[in-house]
Amino acid sequence: IVRAEGVRHSYGRTEVLKGIDLEVHAGEVVCMIGPSGSGKSTLLRCVNHLEVISSGRLWVDGHLVGYRQKGNRLHELSDKEICRRRAGVGMVFQQFNLFPHMTVLENLIEAPCRVLREPKKEVTERALGLLRQVGLSEKHGAYPAQLSGGQQQRVAIARALCMRPKLMLFDEPTSALDPELVGDVLDVMRALARSGMTMVVVTHEIGFARDVADRVVFLDDGKIVESGPSGQVISSPRHERTRAFLAAVR
Ligand code: ATP
Ligand code: MG
Repeated sequence: IVRAEGVRHSYGRTEVLKGIDLEVHAGEVVCMIGPSGSGKSTLLRCVNHLEVISSGRLWVDGHLVGYRQKGNRLHELSDKEICRRRAGVGMVFQQFNLFPHMTVLENLIEAPCRVLREPKKEVTERALGLLRQVGLSEKHGAYPAQLSGGQQQRVAIARALCMRPKLMLFDEPTSALDPELVGDVLDVMRALARSGMTMVVVTHEIGFARDVADRVVFLDDGKIVESGPSGQVISSPRHERTRAFLAAVR
């Protein structure tokens, strides 16, 4: 569902992705680990049309990111088309980014109603089901500020799922949380993985990566240093840099 070939990205003159090759199949959970500044967030942002790659090719769900194919010609996407593509990919950030002036339920139904133009009744039913799934049924009328960080993050996950995405991207979803709140969020993600959702998860939770990921990718300095089954990369990494990183975060 995601395929990157020689993807490069620069901010100004600084190249931060230096030729990434990656494939994520439908139903797979891929955890991305690596030191600060290695380009993990940038790669997720490229997948979600938030950054434009400078070279290489990147496909998401069969579409070349940023372009529409007509015959054998490529056309750049309009902003509207980019929005439509982005709607098929859920993204959850370190900061929960909920709409503060809306209730939990309103947060969930906003995008499906506005962007997908789905009927409110249908979306509301789906939203309430998702809130149950993340263990927050009784909070549908609360405002984000009335919730703990862990609850807000679970709302953010439910909100992304309410768009019925084909792919979920997580960028350090638990690193802004107090330690005692991390578990509930990881449990929700674990259940989501078990349900067959395709997920790319940037995380420092090595235990989660080991238990849940089908594959772990170690990124360093804009390159994939090592990638393989989670057990192998985490328990017996092949590269010295992976070993050093794992020793430092554990
Ligand atoms: P972290 O673990 O700290 O989140 P990361 O692996 O997600 O790190 P990125 O955020 O992708 O790393 O950043 C990669 C590099 O690009 C870093 O050197 C960062 O300083 C730089 N960078 C990120 N965003 C921008 C930006 N908007 N403008 C300029 N440079 C940026
Ligand atoms: Mg980051």
